[in-house]
Amino acid sequence: MKTLPALPALLLAVLAEAPGVAAPVPTTRAASLSADAWHCLRMKGTERPFSGAFWDQHEPGVYRCGDCRTVLFDSKHKFDSGTGWPSFDRPAASASVRLVADRSYGMVRTEVQCARCGGHLGHVFDDGPATTGQRYCINSASLVFVPDSLRPEPPRPGKGKGRS
Ligand SMILES: [Zn+2]
Repeated sequence: MKTLPALPALLLAVLAEAPGVAAPVPTTRAASLSADAWHCLRMKGTERPFSGAFWDQHEPGVYRCGDCRTVLFDSKHKFDSGTGWPSFDRPAASASVRLVADRSYGMVRTEVQCARCGGHLGHVFDDGPATTGQRYCINSASLVFVPDSLRPEPPRPGKGKGRS
């Protein structure tokens, strides 16, 4: 690489400032994750109710892991729980999530993790709708949404279960 000739002072200032712009981002966070996604997926954080991107979303599509992009939930299993978090009565496939006992904060809950990358998604409760009785209470920030209009191939029952 050639050495740079003298640059205009303004450009030099911009170049000097550039690294500082990203400084507040925690160094342990993967560059691909937003601060909110990192907080939920990797620090087991919980977003504030009614604050996320998907609690009031009704568009058909699939919800993938915000980190490894595994398909976790389907919009056809989503329901309005009134809690302010996206809620599903079941995962897209039972093998796509892992359920782990969580005794933090003096409560006994069941944590829902991405089975592939271990990312924290939320919790599952037994007060869901009659279809399954379960309420998967999931952080929007742990998910990315892929609308059906962008899905390369439509889902078929019995297909796509060979990944695990
Ligand atoms: Zn994942």
